[in-house]
Amino acid sequence: MTATSATPEKRTLADEAYTELKSRIMRSELAPGAKLSIDGLAKQLAFSQTPIREALARLESEGLLARRPLSGYTVEPLLSAAEFDDLFEIRMMLEPRAARRAAERGTPEIREPALLRSIPPGDGLAQVDASGLPAAEANALLAAARTPDAGSDKLEFTEADARFHNTVAALSGSAQLAKAIRRLDAHLHLHRAYIEPDSIGETEVEHLAVADAIIGQQPLAAEEAMRRHLERSRIRHRAAFEAARTTEPTPKPKRAKANR
Ligand SMILES: [Zn+2]
Repeated sequence: MTATSATPEKRTLADEAYTELKSRIMRSELAPGAKLSIDGLAKQLAFSQTPIREALARLESEGLLARRPLSGYTVEPLLSAAEFDDLFEIRMMLEPRAARRAAERGTPEIREPALLRSIPPGDGLAQVDASGLPAAEANALLAAARTPDAGSDKLEFTEADARFHNTVAALSGSAQLAKAIRRLDAHLHLHRAYIEPDSIGETEVEHLAVADAIIGQQPLAAEEAMRRHLERSRIRHRAAFEAARTTEPTPKPKRAKANR
């Protein structure tokens, strides 16, 4: 009963709790700044405390929750205007670079220096490289570039957008870069929830431009396409950001005074 190792069954419960909590955060049912009680959530969602704890820790690592020594978990507040600008500036430094590296990785010179040229085609090794990324990676990238239909849940959009940026980051081949990007990206989750449906189609077009350049092994074009996407995305997010700050949709719960 008190075993601490993660049994498969427990994992599943923690996953379920994670998905449920994340969706409530993204829908602002758990509002920015709200204080979370493990006991309360466990009762409300009909889980035991262990999966709830695991789910909260995971959401904290993604930057959606903050944990303070005595007061426990709170939903991260929406970013201030200055933090928002700062965040985008850092993304602009890192993500075009990641796209560029992903495109460079696909080039034969970098993947298999000089070696491939000396190996006759059909030898197994060569087919990996003949056209940049292996087909499976290229397909995964293209799939990640797609965004859900405009009418679908905003949560789906936020997840799809994050998935694309994380996929590009992972293809950069730098674990550190990928980690930094993932972490930054999480802070935008809350804002993506306010994105207008029109933006979703634009996002897909821009994502596909990045993916095409990576698959086409064009490092500079990939870098530029990612930069353009972030610039456009910054404008869209800013509009969503303003809306989020002016239309505080959820009524304040009684004990929201520690809203910080
Ligand atoms: Zn995007």
